[in-house]
Amino acid sequence: MRIVAIANQKGGVGKTTTALNLSACLAAKGCRVLLIDLDPQANATSGLGIAQEEEGSLYPCLVGDAQPQSVIRSTRLPNLSIIRSHQELAGCEVELAQTGHHLTRLRDVLHPLRYTGHFDYVIMDCPPSLGVLMTGALAAADELLVPIQCEYFGLEGLSKIVQIVQQIRESGANPNLALEGIVMTMFDSRMNLSQQVVNDVRGYFEGVVYQTIIPRTIRLGEAPSFGKAIIEYDPSGKGAQAYTSLAEEFLARHGAPAAVASAA
Ligand code: ADP
Ligand code: MG
Repeated sequence: MRIVAIANQKGGVGKTTTALNLSACLAAKGCRVLLIDLDPQANATSGLGIAQEEEGSLYPCLVGDAQPQSVIRSTRLPNLSIIRSHQELAGCEVELAQTGHHLTRLRDVLHPLRYTGHFDYVIMDCPPSLGVLMTGALAAADELLVPIQCEYFGLEGLSKIVQIVQQIRESGANPNLALEGIVMTMFDSRMNLSQQVVNDVRGYFEGVVYQTIIPRTIRLGEAPSFGKAIIEYDPSGKGAQAYTSLAEEFLARHGAPAAVASAA
């Protein structure tokens, strides 16, 4: 089981869209995926059409002694489970920060999942602010996937996140945290700037940047308000194609889990 954090301290860059749709596409390929919504705004939760009920977020696990297994729910998509978010998660920023173990708490809470054999991938959708939840996710993750918006300011955010990864490694909480990949999002072919940003990021991070580029499409922007992953909402559209191809590239990087490899 690999734990992947989808993070960028900048908001609106496509973290949630990528977490939700990469999870859905990996699940459609037969991977057993657990999506954890770590953002108190709960956009991944509502984007899958799931109500934000008070019970069922990671909150009681992080601040109390509930087991993560007790808050995992199935979704209507086969192979995709979720730990929902709720506003109550915002309380962790204060409550966990007051404890001595705020950096390692999430890591310790998720640890038992590694031995259940239930999941191939745990994908965490991180909040934008550089708080306890995001740093905790980086301490808990095997790998970090960074979505970058194809615009000038995308690059700025990237240097910041690279700095944070270094700090998490040096803190000792997670010396092996790997930069799994960078995915360029909201590419607009009508804008020269989009191509320029892609070239720049590829220049700095050769080999790390995914070949797949996520285009800006109206359908990708609409799908969350219908509570659907893009492969449900517009299965033959460009957005679904892009996230399917991202999932394929992701699996090629990781080596597909046995169940997927045997089905292929
Ligand atoms: P973040 O989680 O980083 O804040 P989101 O994934 O929520 O970013 O994206 C921000 C907004 O942009 C959302 O309204 C989302 O639906 C929209 N969006 C994200 N990716 C795309 C895309 N490729 N094309 C069109 N709209 C997008
Ligand atoms: Mg988000």
